[in-house]
Amino acid sequence: MLLRQNESAAYAIGASLYDYRWHVVATDLAGIVIDREQVDLATPDAEAAVAGLGDGIQRLRQRLDPQRMLPLIGIGPPGLVDVSSDVVKSATDLGWRDVPIGERITERTGVPCAVVNRSKAGALAAYWHIARRTVDHLIFISIGTGVSAGIVQQGRLLLGANSSAGELGHITIVPDGPRCECGNRGCLQELISERAIASGARAALRRNPDSVLLEICGHHPETLTAFQVLDAAERGDAVALSVVETISGYLTVAVANLINLFNPQLIILGGPVAERSPRLVASVARSVGDRAMAYPLSVARIVSNELGPEAGAVGTAVLVLENAPRLILQLPIYR
Ligand SMILES: [Zn+2]
Repeated sequence: MLLRQNESAAYAIGASLYDYRWHVVATDLAGIVIDREQVDLATPDAEAAVAGLGDGIQRLRQRLDPQRMLPLIGIGPPGLVDVSSDVVKSATDLGWRDVPIGERITERTGVPCAVVNRSKAGALAAYWHIARRTVDHLIFISIGTGVSAGIVQQGRLLLGANSSAGELGHITIVPDGPRCECGNRGCLQELISERAIASGARAALRRNPDSVLLEICGHHPETLTAFQVLDAAERGDAVALSVVETISGYLTVAVANLINLFNPQLIILGGPVAERSPRLVASVARSVGDRAMAYPLSVARIVSNELGPEAGAVGTAVLVLENAPRLILQLPIYR
């Protein structure tokens, strides 16, 4: 078959937002990245983000053969995405609401778009590359400014009735916990996101002023970042370790619930927080057995995301590749 024989016959473009940076990739028909662009956002507002994405795609396309580009662009923004209209309904961590990102990028590029939440895109990438399509049940969890999950069941991405399945960040972990932008209290996102890690560490610093964290932030706790905390924990700082242990406890509850609910073979912990903290991934893998049922747990492995920050972008390219047999026939060379 043509697609198997020549993986460079065409390429797909996909993009995803990761920690205020658009990763835009071009992949061959096997989903291997052949070129990439990155665009950093000065501000997280939706207008700037859409403009930055358009620039990144344009720059990448200028370097590639236009005759071989599959005529669909995959986009993986954060938040609740209506996949039927390619609109981000809301992304609470960034303050986006009703952003017609697919339409805006099509206006700019002249190419139709397919939009899914970035964690769903991460799940697709993990299905192709980490599971190599031999594992049919996996869950990709992204932890960063927001928290969400992409669920692959029986080799297919689970969307739900209005494509909002997988909003792991807004499951209730602490009934009377901190107020969340979604209107609920004690959401997982409010307990383990980058913002939660930084504020948890600031609170711990007030009780332990001799922590090395105080030097790391130049004695300005208000500037402390989640990444500084995670790095200090990897180096053994007691205050940072206590913060990681706390978020590990919350995340373990969520992961155990997912194991009992979905019976996955693989749970991939990704996003800026998990990828920065091998200790967090190890801690969840170690303690999940205290909560999940032994039978579903017996087939579940918990791993870190080896695809790194490009996972979402690669996953949206995979979304395009899933349509490759139809799209390739639209290329000029086959018309
Ligand atoms: Zn919430």
